[in-house]
Amino acid sequence: MMTTEALFKRLGLASEQSGGSGSSSTWTRTTQAGVVESQNPSTGQTLGRVYGCSDDDYDALVTDLQHMQTSWRRVPAPKRGEVIRRIGEALREQKDALGSLIALEVGKIKAEGDGEVQEMIDMADFAVGLSRMLYGYTMHSERPQHRMYEQWHPLGVIGVITAFNFPVAVWAWNAFIAAVTGNTVLWKPSPKAPLCAVAVQHLCNRVLEGAGYPGVFALCTTDRVELAERMVRDERLPLISFTGSVPVGRHVAEVAGRRLGRSLLELSGNNAIIVDETADLELATSAIVFGAVGTAGQRCTSTRRVIVQESQYDRLVSRLLSAYGQVTIGNPLQADVMMGPLIDGEAVARYRSALDAIRQAGGEVLCGGRVLSRPGYFVEPTIVRAQNHWKIVQQETFAPILYVMTYRTLDQAIDMQNAVPQGLSSALFTTHLRHSEAFLSAAGSDCGIANINIGTSGAEIGGAFGGEKHTGGGREAGSDAWKAYMRRQTTTINWGTELPLAQGITFGRSEGGHHGASR
Ligand code: NAD
Repeated sequence: MMTTEALFKRLGLASEQSGGSGSSSTWTRTTQAGVVESQNPSTGQTLGRVYGCSDDDYDALVTDLQHMQTSWRRVPAPKRGEVIRRIGEALREQKDALGSLIALEVGKIKAEGDGEVQEMIDMADFAVGLSRMLYGYTMHSERPQHRMYEQWHPLGVIGVITAFNFPVAVWAWNAFIAAVTGNTVLWKPSPKAPLCAVAVQHLCNRVLEGAGYPGVFALCTTDRVELAERMVRDERLPLISFTGSVPVGRHVAEVAGRRLGRSLLELSGNNAIIVDETADLELATSAIVFGAVGTAGQRCTSTRRVIVQESQYDRLVSRLLSAYGQVTIGNPLQADVMMGPLIDGEAVARYRSALDAIRQAGGEVLCGGRVLSRPGYFVEPTIVRAQNHWKIVQQETFAPILYVMTYRTLDQAIDMQNAVPQGLSSALFTTHLRHSEAFLSAAGSDCGIANINIGTSGAEIGGAFGGEKHTGGGREAGSDAWKAYMRRQTTTINWGTELPLAQGITFGRSEGGHHGASR
């Protein structure tokens, strides 16, 4: 295992890092705006400090990005894709080091840290292909000798605000697609993961500079809410892509909406797995454990509720208790560890208060429930027998707490699965075709993601990712999510010698019984 110093050196993290960064040639050295401190959640110790972005830095970054975008949008999309292809190569070279940095700074186990970098690589590959597939429809005009089609143009400078738990992949989902579609990107990462952001930004900017396109991506590291707010208010950013909790996301949508800016929201989940009477319990158990314990329950897609047919309850719970007993907790960089720490002391406090609320509501703790007495922010993965309507169950607690509840009929189970404010990910374990189809029908799951015999977490980048209701309605990554970063233009070309109006309108009289104005 590399020492922290060797890791930092490998990733170009100098001893002094600035939080306002365009290309490395315009790397600012402002030291007036305070520092953002990076903490190792496994020890509670400081890993490093990044100078915060000042208000002046911020203005300069947005101005530079606007300027850069006027030339970047002229670069043919496949050529923009070629630059992202090179970024993908650079990420492959640094996958191991970046994966370790993620494990160190946010406490994911190393395999999950590496997996997050792999997601960025996959996203780069996807964006390269996409750069040749930004299709628009061609329509048949109702007028003779007319051609009608739609085309897609970039929006401008995209603001990306990310959460701590996917400190780099979520940025890549946005940034790589935004870049191939001709936008430049300003990133405000989570103040809980500034080193990951600086390392990734360095790596990308080195590639961009080498390719002759410095300044497509810029970084604004800050823990000042006022600066984040300023970004959301900024008319120069036509789209704010926000990933985080519901209360902050709701506020972002309101503030951006007030200026008629667009927002793309990826907010909290409260994801359930339904296990029916025909389910393969071995598959279901593995999926539930991975979904509930993985990343210490700090994924938006973490499994928070298990809704099990009452005839299967005893068998499933006994398998879960046995699997939970084997979960190894500790230093996320060690190969045999399955669960690392929570992100910080506040997260531990929220775990404790959720357990208090569960006990008050009458919940039975089946296993876990304790904070470990050791340095860092370690807690036990916990299973609770609970009821769906309890207030605490209706909320997302970003910790490894799993609520188990029973049902009689599948309709009941689907109603319970849907009866929460969030609508991100859902799953049904079944070998019954009719159950599977019912779950996937319009009267089935109301979530953005609905899986059969696969858990709630671990989505592939090829599909559009996102959720409904309080999860915010945004879609990122695959499918046609690229359209969120572009503006649609409908074009009609008259190649004839007449000027027929739409809907048969002529000035001064109506023809063929058509009335009303042409839009
Ligand atoms: P958070 O809401 O506390 O912070 C998210 C980001 O918002 C951070 O960068 C933060 O600095 C910034 N922020 C805070 N106040 C702001 C303001 N007033 N204006 C603009 N930005 C502001 O979330 P977190 O604790 O970092 O992340 C966990 C949450 O994110 C969970 O709810 C999780 O479900 C959600 N999440 C969702 C997805 C998804 O794709 N749906 C993915 C990852 C995380």
